[in-house]
Amino acid sequence: MTGRIIKGIAGFYYVYVEGCGVYECKAKGVFRNRKVKPLVGDRVEIQVIDEAEHKGNMEEILPRTSELIRPAVANVDQAMVIFAAAKPKPNLSLLDRFLISMEQKEIPSIICFNKIDEASEEELQRLKEIYGGCGSRLLFISARYEKGVEGIRDLLRGKTTTVAGPSGVGKSTLINLLVPDAEMETGQISQKIDRGKHTTRHSELFRVEEDSYIFDTPGFSSLELMGMEKEELRYYFPEFTPYEGSCRFQGCVHGQEPGCAVKEAVEQGKINRERYESYRLLFGELQEKEKRRYN
Ligand code: GDP
Ligand code: ZN
Repeated sequence: MTGRIIKGIAGFYYVYVEGCGVYECKAKGVFRNRKVKPLVGDRVEIQVIDEAEHKGNMEEILPRTSELIRPAVANVDQAMVIFAAAKPKPNLSLLDRFLISMEQKEIPSIICFNKIDEASEEELQRLKEIYGGCGSRLLFISARYEKGVEGIRDLLRGKTTTVAGPSGVGKSTLINLLVPDAEMETGQISQKIDRGKHTTRHSELFRVEEDSYIFDTPGFSSLELMGMEKEELRYYFPEFTPYEGSCRFQGCVHGQEPGCAVKEAVEQGKINRERYESYRLLFGELQEKEKRRYN
């Protein structure tokens, strides 16, 4: 049977098989000699050894389509980042860093602003203006009042989505809405989300519906930009692209250069100013890092 590793604890892998539930599996001897280690998210071939106890052996890992590190998870199709539209106010620099880090891994992002019930019309409008051109899907929801949640379900369908966000934005509330209760008690293990009360949190996949999984990314790392030259940063702001060809200097990084078409587009309101400023801030950070590297 083919299934999906939803969790791994102390040498056991919990494999969800459509229509059958969760099997507690061990990786057979052949795995120990191989370089590839099973990851949460892997599609695997299992052999049931005890149907009553839902136990099996893992025989093979099917080819991965993607692999993320820290936290390690395989076969992620997209990322959804959740911030509150208000209470707490979204940290947009953090959001931009997240978008860049996913783009670096070639994983498309969905931006989800929760708690729209707490935000004013102006606040929501402002967020729409800032992120309307950034190339990611933009969603506005209220997990508490179950507004916009069906739209999320549509975007998750048939995909594996890693869900991230700083604490307090309503991520667990949303995940609890998306994951049916019946799923949470499947097989031997409880899949209920305990809002970080445990000291150790295991990476875990939750099944939303057939072939739809979400991966609850624990915490929100500092998201320091890595593995990038400052000159590369502009490519992570897709709203700059239509103007870049018109800058006077080739290789313009849209800073102090005269005749910069991107800056002009900002002045004309064609590129959102806050996104541009966020770009400049991150550019400065990369510049500092470069200086430290060469000194
Ligand atoms: P997490 O830390 O991101 O997992 O956030 P939680 O899901 O624990 O939610 C943090 C707080 O925000 C809780 O008190 C939730 O009831 C509340 N909350 C979640 N979604 C909404 C929402 O759409 N609107 C409002 N007003 N509060 C919400
Ligand atoms: Zn320029």
